[in-house]
Amino acid sequence: MTASRSFDWDLILDRLTAFYHRGDWRVPYLRNHAENPFQVLVGTILSQRTRDANTDKASARLFAQYPGPRELAKAPKSALEKLIHSTGYYRTKARHIRATSQAILDRFGGQVPADRELLLTLPGVGPKTANCVLVFGYGLPAVPVDTHVHRIANRLGLVRTRTPEQTEREIVRRVPVEYWIPLNPVLVQHGQNICRPVGPRCPDCPIRELCATGVALRAGRTPPRKEDRPRLKRARTHRSGQSASPPARRRR
Ligand code: SF4
Repeated sequence: MTASRSFDWDLILDRLTAFYHRGDWRVPYLRNHAENPFQVLVGTILSQRTRDANTDKASARLFAQYPGPRELAKAPKSALEKLIHSTGYYRTKARHIRATSQAILDRFGGQVPADRELLLTLPGVGPKTANCVLVFGYGLPAVPVDTHVHRIANRLGLVRTRTPEQTEREIVRRVPVEYWIPLNPVLVQHGQNICRPVGPRCPDCPIRELCATGVALRAGRTPPRKEDRPRLKRARTHRSGQSASPPARRRR
């Protein structure tokens, strides 16, 4: 690989999609729980600092009893804490979920807003949660960056950043908007299975020759050098979550 190669997002996404289509791989929580914006929002709050399996079980229990903001705003605190106990930080999460449910009723007529700035005014909602609601709840282009997306974007050589917030800003600048919606679920699944935080399985990786870290490893050097990093094409500028008709490449 040379410095002239550039990120081929179609190839990266197609390779990863085909790879995870076969075999028994872990599937990201939101891949199976998209569509209902309120449940995406609450599920993402529950998913903070816990494993997907815990989020899955707790949200199934929670939504069976309290499916929407009207029910959750009135839910007894102790009952709520008990239902979500297994996700950790359950007192804080229960407080945020009740307050956010009440705010959605009081300020937005019971509908979760499809607007990033408004979402960020809700208790317990940060950039990742707001972007998850836009992408998975409304199909609007945004870039939810969790630890998997942050780590893989750096390993690929797409960004050189220290925090998920910086990574989100750089991805928005550098990745064409039509790839934003499919990016998160594919990279999260890759991070859960192959590009793991510790001990990434680079020899098994279907995009290793498209990745700065993979290229450097094959050449016997680490960390990657500048010439290992793919060239970046400048993306069209686009404000996250503001399009009513998403130019999504595809929905997963
Ligand atoms: S080659 Fe290694 S570091 Fe690069 S994406 Fe694959 S598993 Fe991750």
